[in-house]
Amino acid sequence: MWPDSGSDVVFEMIEREVERQNTTLQLIASENFASPAVLRASGSVLTNKYSEGYPGRRYYGGNQVIDEVESIARERLSTLFGAEHANVQPHSGANANLAVYLAVLEVGDTVLGMSLDHGGHLTHGSPVNISGRNYNFMSYGVTSSDERIDYDQVRDLALKHHPKLIVAGATSYARTIDPAPFRAIADEVGALYMFDAAHIAGLIAGGIHPSPVPYADIVTFTTHKTLRGPRGGAILCTTELASVIDKAIFPGLQGGPLEHAIAAKAVAFAEAATPEFADYASQIVQNSTELGKGLAAEGFRLVSGGSDNHLLLVDLRTFDEDLTGKQAQEVLDLAGITLNKNTVPDDPRSPFVTSGLRIGTPATTTQGMGATEMAQISKLIGRTLRHSEDHRTLSAVRSEVSELCDRFRPYAFAS
Ligand SMILES: *Cc1c(COP(=O)(O)O)cnc(C)c1O
Repeated sequence: MWPDSGSDVVFEMIEREVERQNTTLQLIASENFASPAVLRASGSVLTNKYSEGYPGRRYYGGNQVIDEVESIARERLSTLFGAEHANVQPHSGANANLAVYLAVLEVGDTVLGMSLDHGGHLTHGSPVNISGRNYNFMSYGVTSSDERIDYDQVRDLALKHHPKLIVAGATSYARTIDPAPFRAIADEVGALYMFDAAHIAGLIAGGIHPSPVPYADIVTFTTHKTLRGPRGGAILCTTELASVIDKAIFPGLQGGPLEHAIAAKAVAFAEAATPEFADYASQIVQNSTELGKGLAAEGFRLVSGGSDNHLLLVDLRTFDEDLTGKQAQEVLDLAGITLNKNTVPDDPRSPFVTSGLRIGTPATTTQGMGATEMAQISKLIGRTLRHSEDHRTLSAVRSEVSELCDRFRPYAFAS
């Protein structure tokens, strides 16, 4: 019936990727290990089905089972976050944000969002992103004193520019984002308020970070970061906005939904509602705190002095003035430590070079690592960057990393 593609070279590549994930440290703050159940749902025959529309209102036949799957995903998600309405169709976090803009803005409207080089996301108005090309984004940032969101600046800019929408949320910000002040500012200037919880959705679901749902008109997020589901996005909103949001996702922005991904989201939402997940969320933050202490002891400066969430933003300049984020990322990669370079606030270097690193604990926490391992990892990072030209150090670190990963193997299957 089908060509014999079971031995396609692609499967050998997938095996090698399993091997990489099993034997190196995954410290990219936006990554995690989805559960075998999530993987199973996302690899299912639901990928075959066309289901444009929403449960009960589809353009094609044969959607009886699909309707059940999408309905349970929506119900679980609304319950998990106590939201009035949920849309589980966004293919990604970027699409979730774009759909919101499409739903509530006209081209050229003014929006207030967090500046990219202070921790905001590309979809919050970068000139190279459709958000920045279609809308007039103004940016707020962090204070230079404590490197935390400058709510006074948010208010000043809102009063001055009268945005139609205020966007909260970040991609490299290590502190708790208080959702309440944004509501007050939005009310004062008559703006809508969107909270992009892409990174911290799992911490909110686990009850560790304050939920923006009671405050924001719309909450967007990804399902694959701390929430630990399949790659994808989701939107929560008030009943009042439900219809414009749904219409913006389909037919506004996307075609047929990825129902295999939606099934996997439903599985992940149930996992995130368990007491074990709340423990997991709290352990993520404890691990990040521990890792931060270790890195500070190695001589790195932590932007804002520490972390309240799953990530640390490390300023390399106190450790080594000449070491760039790019070099550090590359040498750590050779040692089996995977993380990403990141600008620090007011970074004199370009975003391709940077003076910082972003380091996250969601994946290692899923593996079951704790305080002892975080201390070990901070030492390995210090050692690697102190002797970055010494091959013997790199291979010694690489073996210590494999031993560590072997004791906390994420996936039992293959390699
Ligand atoms: C990751 C992220 C996104 C985009 O998610 P994708 O699924 O990669 O499109 C949007 N906003 C924020 C704040 C993010 O961190």
